[in-house]
Amino acid sequence: MKNLKKIIFCLAALILLAGCSKSESANKENNTEDKNDKLKVYASVYPMYDFANKIAGDKMDVQLIVPQGVEPHEWEPDQDTIKNLEDADIFIYNGAGLESWTDKIINSLDNKNLVTLEASEGLEILKSNHSHEEEHEDEEEHEHNHTGLDPHVWLSPINAKKELQNIKNTFVKVDPENKDYYENNYKEYSKKFDELDKKYRENLSNLKDNKIVVSHEAYGYLCKEYGLEQMGLQGVNAQTEPDAKKMAEIIDFIRNENVNTIFTEELIDPKVSEVIASETGAEVKVLSPVEGLSQEEIDNNEDYLSIMQTNLDNLVGALK
Ligand SMILES: [Zn+2]
Repeated sequence: MKNLKKIIFCLAALILLAGCSKSESANKENNTEDKNDKLKVYASVYPMYDFANKIAGDKMDVQLIVPQGVEPHEWEPDQDTIKNLEDADIFIYNGAGLESWTDKIINSLDNKNLVTLEASEGLEILKSNHSHEEEHEDEEEHEHNHTGLDPHVWLSPINAKKELQNIKNTFVKVDPENKDYYENNYKEYSKKFDELDKKYRENLSNLKDNKIVVSHEAYGYLCKEYGLEQMGLQGVNAQTEPDAKKMAEIIDFIRNENVNTIFTEELIDPKVSEVIASETGAEVKVLSPVEGLSQEEIDNNEDYLSIMQTNLDNLVGALK
């Protein structure tokens, strides 16, 4: 008797639940009706997401994997990431050692139709200058992401344009029906990337100084392209806080080279930069590695192009 009651109760609960979820999913379908037909693109980090959106326009549904506001170097995928990729058509990642988790996750997927793109494919990848990271070689956590490569290719607009092109080519291959649409978007944005490169070249030549102090050494490609030199509080993976020796080295560098600005970034605690600034009288300003947007940047509808323009203004301000 007791059991029967239990069964009836469970049945009633089930019917209720089924009713709820049915109407819920019906609503969902109505709201996202056209979204469901679109090809689903997952992009690992913000620059890939932004570039993919610029090419995809309204033809594809582009989603970001590493959440906004999260520093991507230490991020690890979870069950949701796997679930999303099982359901995706295209997966775009930067590569060059940025997302150390990609190979493992791609190999584990049942989704055999997933098209994957390493957007940095075909670019010349720089070795990272990890002078102060080598001291921490024993730490397991550190070893984990240690590839010896500098992944920040997109911080040179020329490389960014190449990544944009790789993404466009993949979209054309997967969805040839909309080839002209993707080609047109590429044409429009690659022109803007060229203009950005031109502005960098013009504004960064003939400056008084060329040495910058930054939060983490993300600017290898930018420096190489436009003749600058970077000194990082943290290495290329933004993982280790500078120790006393490194702090002293940076302070000496700032004094000897008459550096007047210390660049910090949105997703890193500016505390260390502020300490060094007060020690040396330098100013603290933002130089974004465009690894993820802050809430303020999202609210202001910023993108790769607008942030890189602000970066240029801040660089010129510091080096003139
Ligand atoms: Zn970085």
